[in-house]
Amino acid sequence: MAAVLEARGLSKSFGGLQAVVDIDFSVAQGEVLGIAGPNGSGKSTLFNILTKVPFAADRGAVLLDGRPIQRLRAHEIARLGVARTFQRESVFPSLSAVDNVLLAAEGARRGNFAANLAAAEQALDLAGFPATLHNMVAGQLPVFLRKLVMIASALALQPRVLLLDEPASSLTPQEIERIRDLIAKLVGEGMTILLIEHVLPLLTAVSDRLMVLDHGTLIASGLPADVIANPAVIEAYLGR
Ligand code: ADP
Ligand code: MG
Repeated sequence: MAAVLEARGLSKSFGGLQAVVDIDFSVAQGEVLGIAGPNGSGKSTLFNILTKVPFAADRGAVLLDGRPIQRLRAHEIARLGVARTFQRESVFPSLSAVDNVLLAAEGARRGNFAANLAAAEQALDLAGFPATLHNMVAGQLPVFLRKLVMIASALALQPRVLLLDEPASSLTPQEIERIRDLIAKLVGEGMTILLIEHVLPLLTAVSDRLMVLDHGTLIASGLPADVIANPAVIEAYLGR
């Protein structure tokens, strides 16, 4: 299958710290690529340099449908269909749920206000956010619904490739189940997903392939069952 998103030799250092080291991967349309690794192994930095939010790679290429995008600006990459969520809480607590998503839509889409508002409402619906709570102030929502607002903010860009950074952290098992259903629904609509997740049952259940980073380096990749049984992967987790 043709790659939708591909990375070649991606690297990023912070001073003397090599956060991402010469990473190659490719992901096909409708595929879920899981990304695991201990804390500080470079997972979020990889999302940052793929989307240029907030910074670019030092070296390497990113290709979308075979076209290099690493020289484009962050909003151009988003418009081409690569959207991401953040590991840290990124909702504006004093804005309503729909205004949070609208802000994301206005940041990345060309549409007028009405079109952007429609996209925001559609994105909340797609994320499974309750229709009755669109106007609720985000800061008053429970963590699960704030997470859905974050995901909807990415979905409002109508992405082809969605990068999810630890969507299941601090959720209950029932809520994690709903994240799993949501990912399955998005994939069913043809979306391609990169998923960083510490909740291994979720990661192994939804990922077609898994890659594991350690100290910024790709130490294993392949089918989830093979990867989590890989001695180098077990060592990376136990060694911390
Ligand atoms: P992960 O998401 O796998 O937990 P990160 O990508 O957040 O890891 O971080 C990888 C390494 O890069 C860590 O050592 C982290 O401290 C460092 N790092 C990440 N972002 C920055 C930054 N903006 N400035 C300096 N160091 C950073
Ligand atoms: Mg991270």
